[in-house]
Amino acid sequence: MDAPAAPDQGGPVLVEGRRLGDRLFEVAEGVWRIPIPTGFAVGDVNLYWIDGPDPVLIDTGVIGESSWEALTGALRAGGRRIEDVRTLVLTHHHADHAGQARRIREVSGCEVRVRQRGVRRLSDVEGAAEADTPGVLAFLRRGGFSPETIRLFESLLRRTRRMMQSCPDILGIDDGDVVTGGGGRRLRVHARPGHSSTDLVLELEGTGVLMTGDHVLPTITSNPTLEGPEPGDTEPYRALRAYRESLQRTEAMACTLACPGHELPFQGLADRCRSLRNHQDRRIREVHRILQRQGPMTLKEVSLALFGRVHTFEIFLTLSEVVGALDILESEGLVAVDHADPADRFRAI
Ligand SMILES: [Zn+2]
Repeated sequence: MDAPAAPDQGGPVLVEGRRLGDRLFEVAEGVWRIPIPTGFAVGDVNLYWIDGPDPVLIDTGVIGESSWEALTGALRAGGRRIEDVRTLVLTHHHADHAGQARRIREVSGCEVRVRQRGVRRLSDVEGAAEADTPGVLAFLRRGGFSPETIRLFESLLRRTRRMMQSCPDILGIDDGDVVTGGGGRRLRVHARPGHSSTDLVLELEGTGVLMTGDHVLPTITSNPTLEGPEPGDTEPYRALRAYRESLQRTEAMACTLACPGHELPFQGLADRCRSLRNHQDRRIREVHRILQRQGPMTLKEVSLALFGRVHTFEIFLTLSEVVGALDILESEGLVAVDHADPADRFRAI
């Protein structure tokens, strides 16, 4: 993630909720927010607990003791235990949202649910990463990166994987499904691919409360992240295109409170969706202008012109942005790619 968004007029209204403990806030009736540390630049990740005789937990935090302690401690403050969880729903498959799924299931025996397309990835984290890695590295080579950067990136991928544990026997859910729990409450599932291909928005029916995961955050701009194909895909997954369609769908939803995966819950979801799309529009036009002035350019060169030099761990995020913009410009007939060795070059038409 995490290029800061240009502040728009007004902006979202942040809602902390009623404090029940150090890391426990009631944000709607029987809906608890549990912020726990991630060790990532983004800071805490929000888990949500839908209370009742058969509680539902949304998201998990990364694997690790500090994450586990924060979660179990927060629940203790509310008089609950991780053993009580009946259903765990993951807003998407990233490590800070799904990393701890296996441990939570081992302790509680709960059902674990993720968007159907994420089942394979989470059931076998190592296997999925091994299958993806050659494609990612080839992509970086074609993007104009040096062998040294690619080696650094490879070791970074290995380290990130360790923040996740495979969780076998996950159940798939998808657009239109309903998960019940928390004393007969219904969570309607809305597929919102873009930030990842497995992003879901969960609608607590009859309340206007939406769990938005990383699909929409109040002030941080989520990146559309590049992903390898899933078996059975008939065309490449185009993250930014998918994201823009998803934002339009979310913008049209009735919402009194958005409960995001990071930062505070907020009001003004439709405005936030619009502002994100405007931000994307500006970035797409900026990439076009860069190519008009300086093209033809490799992916790396466009990324440098747009973001300057970035840390290895940010390469993937900045490239995801650039690839998304180029993909849209290509589809609009404004940019063409010349496949050449060793790296592809993009130019304005
Ligand atoms: Zn994420």
